[in-house]
Amino acid sequence: MSVLPILRWPDPCLAQVCARAEITDELRALAADMFDTIYAAPGRGLAAPQVGRPIRLFVMDCGWKDGTPDPTVMVNPERVAASDAVETRDEGCLSIPGVTARVTRPAEVTMRWTDLDGASCERRLGGFAATCAQHELDHLDGIVTFDRVDPATRATLKAAYMAA
Ligand code: ZN
Repeated sequence: MSVLPILRWPDPCLAQVCARAEITDELRALAADMFDTIYAAPGRGLAAPQVGRPIRLFVMDCGWKDGTPDPTVMVNPERVAASDAVETRDEGCLSIPGVTARVTRPAEVTMRWTDLDGASCERRLGGFAATCAQHELDHLDGIVTFDRVDPATRATLKAAYMAA
C-alpha cells in the first residue's frame, strides 16, 4: 500500500482516452494504492490516468470526510442513464490543485461498472456522488473540468492555475 504521485494538468496522460482495464491482482493493488492516495491528498475521487495509468478505472469515497466511508472502485464504468435535472457545483480536482471550476452536470445518474471481483454492478447516484462519478468518468475520456466550462471561463481559470 502506498501513496502515489498525482499527475498535474496539463500532463498528456490526462488528455487521452483510456483503454479498458483487465481485473488482475496488479489492478487490485493499484486500486488500494489509489485509496491511500485520496485519503492522503485529501480528496474524494481519483482516476487511474491521474496516477499515470491510462486505463478505465477510478476510485471514489464521497463519505469518508464526513465519517460515513463508502469506498467504491469502478472498473470499466459507464453512465447508462442521466436525469434531465442538472446540478451545478464548484469542482476541485487533485490534478488541478488550487482551482475550482463551476460545472453543470446531470443531477442523478445510473452508473454500471465491474467491481474488483469481476461482478457487474449498477447503482443510481445523486447528490455529490453523482458529480464525483461523472468527474472521474470524464478523466477516463481525457476530459478535465477546464473542458466543461465556456472558453472565457476556461481562459480565466487557466491563467489563475498557471499563476499559482
Ligand atoms: Zn479530477
